[in-house]
Amino acid sequence: MQRTRLVAGNWKMHGGRASNQALLDALLDGIGGLKGAECAVCPPFCYLQQVSERLRGSPLAVGAQNVSEHAQGAYTGEVSAAMVKELGCRYAIVGHSERRQLYGESDPQVAAKFAAAQGAGLTPILCVGETLQEREAGRTEEVVARQLDEVLRNYSIGTAVVAYEPVWAIGTGRNATPEQVQAVHAFLRKKVSQETKIVYGGSVKPQNAAAIFAMPDVDGGLIGGASLVAKDFIDIVKAATT
Ligand code: PEP
Repeated sequence: MQRTRLVAGNWKMHGGRASNQALLDALLDGIGGLKGAECAVCPPFCYLQQVSERLRGSPLAVGAQNVSEHAQGAYTGEVSAAMVKELGCRYAIVGHSERRQLYGESDPQVAAKFAAAQGAGLTPILCVGETLQEREAGRTEEVVARQLDEVLRNYSIGTAVVAYEPVWAIGTGRNATPEQVQAVHAFLRKKVSQETKIVYGGSVKPQNAAAIFAMPDVDGGLIGGASLVAKDFIDIVKAATT
């Protein structure tokens, strides 16, 4: 089955009104007319409105970096899936390794966030990935299966997106080889439906994007650092369209 590739930029806790404006102007210039791949940016919550308004009517979609597992209530500091949907989001990242590691998000909590996103009409981007220690212990498949199965046991994955993000390759400049990526994607592919996209994240740059996207089970990328540099993100999106 032919799946349209997705390239999503995770801005993490970066940005400001003026720099967002400049980045979005450049992205619209470079990507606005491109066909053949879906593309999204995921800014911090407080800029969702600004980014949605600027991208309205363009082929670039907007995503949130996280959502609460709760619909509403006394959860100080949290933001619900319905709230980000109302701000124009199409996607929501759930279970990013920084959320799992720095904020203690558990597999069941991530699965609940997945369900909350789906229930609000968002497309969840579910991140899974092993640490270096787990990879070196030969536990990569066990770890990503545990993270994914928690969702599969309880919910239907359908048109959601799975992002394979080995923790040791995120923000480190240390690359997984296209073959290492393909091996894990092929393993994940057997667990999900044909319409589910599986994208790769972990130090994707213009220099390695084409080789990674050429792998048969790679349906695009989740891009951190390089999504903040207009030319790099544009070049990565272009690599997904060829
Ligand atoms: C990420 O944060 O999801 C990510 C893949 O970051 P980077 O591209 O910077 O490794």
